[in-house]
Amino acid sequence: MDNKSGKPVLAIIVPCYNEQEVLPETAKELSGALQQLISEQIIDERSILLFVDDGSSDNTWSLIEKLHTENPSVFSGIKLSGNRGHQNALLCGLLAVKDHAALSFDAAISIDADLQDDIGVIGKMIEKYRTGCEIVYGVRSNRKTDSFFKRSTAQSFYRFMRFLGVDIVYNHADFRLMGRNALEALAEYSEVNLFLRGIIPLLGFKTGIEYYTRAERPAGTSKYPLGKMLQFALEGITSFSVKPLRLITLLGVLLFAVSVAMIVYFFVRYFSGYTISGWASIACSLWGIGGLILLSIGIVGEYIGKIYLEAKRRPRYHVERFLFMQERNNYEQH
Ligand code: UDP
Ligand code: MG
Repeated sequence: MDNKSGKPVLAIIVPCYNEQEVLPETAKELSGALQQLISEQIIDERSILLFVDDGSSDNTWSLIEKLHTENPSVFSGIKLSGNRGHQNALLCGLLAVKDHAALSFDAAISIDADLQDDIGVIGKMIEKYRTGCEIVYGVRSNRKTDSFFKRSTAQSFYRFMRFLGVDIVYNHADFRLMGRNALEALAEYSEVNLFLRGIIPLLGFKTGIEYYTRAERPAGTSKYPLGKMLQFALEGITSFSVKPLRLITLLGVLLFAVSVAMIVYFFVRYFSGYTISGWASIACSLWGIGGLILLSIGIVGEYIGKIYLEAKRRPRYHVERFLFMQERNNYEQH
């Protein structure tokens, strides 16, 4: 049942991986914002904050437990059995909210634990939701707080994705509101290689955008080092586009055309009396083409690897503990 006209029951979902430095501050800020929205009659008073601990090795979970004990009606928690990555932790939170039988949530907002996203926008997101948007994207109006390197790599990633024909929202990370209908639709996507930013635009529905400026991380360090970032980008590309495979085919056709031209050229030279000289050109093409073949096999291999992982249908996460005030019913593992 949609409750767009009334006060929606909201869950704010926060994935946390080794966030002990910033979590107390985040909990304070977010619960403050939640209380404010409740007192302004924008959201229902049953709205909650849900922390998903993505297998942290520091004190993150004990902090969440403490928050829940102090104020169970506001703070809920889910502990995953191990580190499954940001996207899986997020998905776990979203699906848990959708499946929560005792409280029928109307909408969920996902936000990072590090307070980089502007929590002042949450109210505006709800506003958009109430006027009929099922999904509201939080979009960064600029990237001033990023390092030059992160800014340029991120921007070229978005451009490249667009070039490959993948519909992703420019400068939108995972700060977004999703209504119940969108969550139900999301649950039907069972892929193991999860790239939520690519899936959400596929859901359809009426969407809206809220712009905000992204702040710097107040404490702790980024949990996305370069290696993880590259892996994430590759995930996004290979999960949503087969264009690289087509480019390989195109390259093959192109190289074949070049070789035909070369054969014709050498024949002409042979019959016009020149001896065939130039081992350099042969050596260069040998290395060049050899390299391209290996690269192509690598790209094809990436896709085969994807199929391999998808074919196994392994669960995307396991839940170790639930801390919900209301009893959870019918919660399944996804
Ligand atoms: N995160 C997670 N699991 C991971 C890595 C990160 O749940 O394996 C969470 C992290 O706690 C944070 C969010 O994902 O809430 C975004 O991470 P971070 O702020 O480090 O990324 P950045 O903003 O630097 O891209
Ligand atoms: Mg961050």
